[in-house]
Amino acid sequence: MAFSKMVKPETTELVHLEVLRTERLAPHWIRVTLGGREISKFRPMGYDQWFRLFIPVGGEAGLERVPAKAHKMFGYLKFLRIPDGERPVMRNYTVRAYRPAAGDQGAEIDVDFVLHGSAAEGTAGPASRWAETCRPGEHVLIIDEGLTFNPERGTDRVVLVGDETALPAMASICASLPSTATGRAIIEVPSADDALEFEHPSGISIEWITRTPSSAPGTLALAALRDSALPSEPFHAYAAGEQALASGVRKRLVGERGIDKNSVSFCGYWKIGASSPASKTAREAAAEPAV
Ligand SMILES: Cc1cc2nc3c(=O)[nH]c(=O)nc-3n(C[C@H](O)[C@H](O)[C@H](O)COP(=O)(O)OP(=O)(O)OC[C@H]3O[C@@H](n4cnc5c(N)ncnc54)[C@H](O)[C@@H]3O)c2cc1C
Repeated sequence: MAFSKMVKPETTELVHLEVLRTERLAPHWIRVTLGGREISKFRPMGYDQWFRLFIPVGGEAGLERVPAKAHKMFGYLKFLRIPDGERPVMRNYTVRAYRPAAGDQGAEIDVDFVLHGSAAEGTAGPASRWAETCRPGEHVLIIDEGLTFNPERGTDRVVLVGDETALPAMASICASLPSTATGRAIIEVPSADDALEFEHPSGISIEWITRTPSSAPGTLALAALRDSALPSEPFHAYAAGEQALASGVRKRLVGERGIDKNSVSFCGYWKIGASSPASKTAREAAAEPAV
């Protein structure tokens, strides 16, 4: 993952949660609603708030062994000492929506998972497979990571570009911006049915692009940005999705259009042919002997 400057979360404590329910939203989308257990420890920040999700692929006992700061170098080394088969899978996801506690009902977090590959044929990643099969009551663990979207205070003109993995973030950014915000969003999705409509300020235009069988993920969104007029400056841009899309948008805006690099938040959310986590920290940690 390549990140621009981030907004830190209030706390990076481990937060134990459980699956409350799941809902199939579209051919490539499942919403998993999390809550219960330690949900009161979670601090919502809106925008593209994301977190590390630990999935108990080897049984729930593995979650109890996840060390504090498992998302940082030393914690990750300890995490790797959890035996194979018991070690949870760690992946990155976005808070699509947060609902505070009301009456008897505890707070809830919606997480929208892209279903990629095929669970039946074994070509889906573990997170995608898990989202498709998880059941209410199942235990998970999260660590808050804060925001990547980091505009200058008062900037509410935006350019948002992403593929389907960035749709939850773009929808939540639009829900967090003032209703007077303006700009455009370009979103590439795997099929027309996967274009999940979301509420947005009326001054932000949404352009859906449906991937074709011959186009690599992200290439059509990048081409759409290239062909389109940008709003007048100042604006803040956000680019996320397949690695080449995120870095391509940044190169286009900063390298070719001369936009200040602090006005572009970007993050590679996944990489064709590579399992997550592909972060520098995780790669370096994974290269160390886990003694
Ligand atoms: C900050 C951040 C926030 C994110 N938020 C979300 C979110 O809210 N919802 C969401 O669905 N994803 C989100 N992602 C992306 C998600 O973390 C990755 O898609 C992740 O790789 C999925 O894990 P997996 O176990 O299913 O597949 P992995 O084991 O990581 O990968 C297995 C194989 O599947 C491929 N692959 C991985 N993801 C995709 C994909 N989306 N489409 C096609 N092929 C893929 C890989 O290239 C690899 O070949 C986010 C990523 C980041 C960094």
